[in-house]
Amino acid sequence: MTKAIEKVVIVGGGTAGWMTALSLAKYANISPLNITLVQAQDIETIGVGEATIPNFVEFNRNLGIHEAELLRQTNATFKLGIQFQDWKEKNHSFFHPFSDYGLNINNVDFHHYVLSALHHGLDVKLSDFCLSTQLANKEKFYIANELQNPLEDFGYAYHFDAGLYATLLKRNATAQGVAHKIATIEDVKCRVDGFIDHLVAQNGEMISGDLFIDCSGFRGELIEKVLETGYERWDHWLLCDKAVAVHSESECSLKPFTKSTAKANGWQWSIPLQNRMGNGYLYASQWESDQDAQAQLLASLTGSALTTPRVIPFTPGRRKQIWNKNCFAVGLSTGFIEPLESTSISLIQSAIAKLLSFFPDSSFDDALINHVNRLHNLEVERVRDFIILHYKLSQRTDSEFWRHCQTMSIPTSLEDKIALFKASSSIEQRECESFEMASWLSMYFGFDVKPKRFDPRANLMPLDALKHNLGMIKSHINQTCNQAPSHDQFVSSFLSNRKA
Ligand SMILES: Cc1cc2nc3c(=O)[nH]c(=O)nc-3n(C[C@H](O)[C@H](O)[C@H](O)COP(=O)(O)OP(=O)(O)OC[C@H]3O[C@@H](n4cnc5c(N)ncnc54)[C@H](O)[C@@H]3O)c2cc1C
Repeated sequence: MTKAIEKVVIVGGGTAGWMTALSLAKYANISPLNITLVQAQDIETIGVGEATIPNFVEFNRNLGIHEAELLRQTNATFKLGIQFQDWKEKNHSFFHPFSDYGLNINNVDFHHYVLSALHHGLDVKLSDFCLSTQLANKEKFYIANELQNPLEDFGYAYHFDAGLYATLLKRNATAQGVAHKIATIEDVKCRVDGFIDHLVAQNGEMISGDLFIDCSGFRGELIEKVLETGYERWDHWLLCDKAVAVHSESECSLKPFTKSTAKANGWQWSIPLQNRMGNGYLYASQWESDQDAQAQLLASLTGSALTTPRVIPFTPGRRKQIWNKNCFAVGLSTGFIEPLESTSISLIQSAIAKLLSFFPDSSFDDALINHVNRLHNLEVERVRDFIILHYKLSQRTDSEFWRHCQTMSIPTSLEDKIALFKASSSIEQRECESFEMASWLSMYFGFDVKPKRFDPRANLMPLDALKHNLGMIKSHINQTCNQAPSHDQFVSSFLSNRKA
């Protein structure tokens, strides 16, 4: 006879641990669960995951966390996308927005009309037809109360302080019955069938459970050290394997985007919070020493450093399974690609969603386990391909790092996608794809990839009509953008007007 899972034990109290704990606490309203989160005092959290993508807004809403409360408690700001500086070549910049470009007209995607206009010699840019890109260029932001026009529909996310976010979730989760134990797990006892039976803490306490969630970060205390699930390395495609991170004083205005600046041997991020900047330099350690990386990062800060730079090594790749026996891994214990598109927290969300959708009973049916692992692996591969695309399309030749990126082989799944765009300007949307058409277009247009042809149906629009329609769309976007408040103004009025 199978029984319902009663006791869930989460190991780890970082972003992944508390996101999982609060989600399970909500789930326990439907199916009763006894949830314990165990966290070591002496093992630091990573703490640098501060940029998100739009599905994070909905995630928090579903957990019952009000937007104003989140902004206030975590010093958060709004994010319209990512500015890529010096990626194609030095002194060149483009924007990856969380929104579409223009409008689909007569069932033809908008970018084909832009390509048609370019073909006719018109001076147009795809980014002119995207409100959130224009808002970002002018450092403006607003949230539409009621959507009047599809051209004004854009997604947004947050930048937030990871430590404060974990505290906020902890307060909510413990209020909803999650037991919090401070203890370092030193040993794990398994049953004869290899399933985890109980954990043993440093103080000798035994912590038993039916289901164990590994949120122990890169250490993979259960999924790897105990169950030896295996890790697939992707460092032949993703050369950056270290990061150095530091906080610094705020800049004079709050930018509504993450800035990613390509450097000779990697790239640097800059994330604005209400009270400080989060900065980091991600680099390939075969070409850059830790000392040089730290010196470069410190030299590039616009305000004084507020913390000591911290070096974080990692191996790009993924755990071969996120679910093995009665252990489900969430967060960095499942692997890490790299932070370029702020996808790690989103992968935490989707792992939690899969756990809840396919919540097991005591039989731990292989059908569920295999299905979840297959979906997760596909999703991570899609994200990996999108990240590799950034390096592959760069035209920089100023270092061995960039020359290597251009000549390296890439996964065939990505090769096929690029080939399809070059041949037809089409974007193939695959199963479990996190990044939709607009994201891929922002890269192809941002890196100036020239497709051989576009959808001939775009040419059915006479040139005068094309000019007129593009002009109308652009001017509507400019007008809307001009009326919007600055991001600074919006954040302060949002915080003062809304009660958490
Ligand atoms: C350089 C860098 C930049 C990043 N930037 C972003 C970003 O901008 N956006 C994004 O989405 N993601 C980003 N990430 C990823 C993001 O930081 C993580 O996905 C997120 O913080 C989740 O981490 P975690 O909770 O899995 O692990 P951690 O934060 O490492 O937490 C692990 C927890 O496990 C506990 N623990 C470990 N071992 C034991 C033990 N034996 N007993 C008890 N407890 C134990 C620790 O005490 C800690 O509480 C970045 C990552 C890196 C490395």
